[in-house]
Amino acid sequence: MVDKLILSEDEWRRRLSAEEFAVLRQHGTERAWTGCFVGTKSAGTYVCAGCGHPLFRSGEKFESGTGWPSFTRPITADALSERVDRSYGMVRTEVLCARCDGHLGHVFPDGPAPTGMRFCINSVSMRHVPEGEPISLVTA
Ligand code: FE
Repeated sequence: MVDKLILSEDEWRRRLSAEEFAVLRQHGTERAWTGCFVGTKSAGTYVCAGCGHPLFRSGEKFESGTGWPSFTRPITADALSERVDRSYGMVRTEVLCARCDGHLGHVFPDGPAPTGMRFCINSVSMRHVPEGEPISLVTA
């Protein structure tokens, strides 16, 4: 079980940049190829930009050609939560941070082996913690 971080909309607005708020709290999407993690290969852990919750490992990042950072699986089974997103006339599976419910991106069943999954994630929803550095959770 993940210990939830629940903050008011005002508090999120105060803590996040305008871009982070638009994506994490308002289900926005950064434009393709504009995110800072599209091409990065540095070893480490990608954590939620809202709450610091570990989401993905660099070893499971792959080049999808989509213009968004893409991963084959989350760092742990309970790192993410998912829900059906019927916006824009599509049925997609939205991926959220399991701790703060921040919007991360979507998951599609067209990824590489071994999982066959492609977690398509906004750079602005994440921070990169280099290998060996401590991961600290944001608290209320
Ligand atoms: Fe989070």
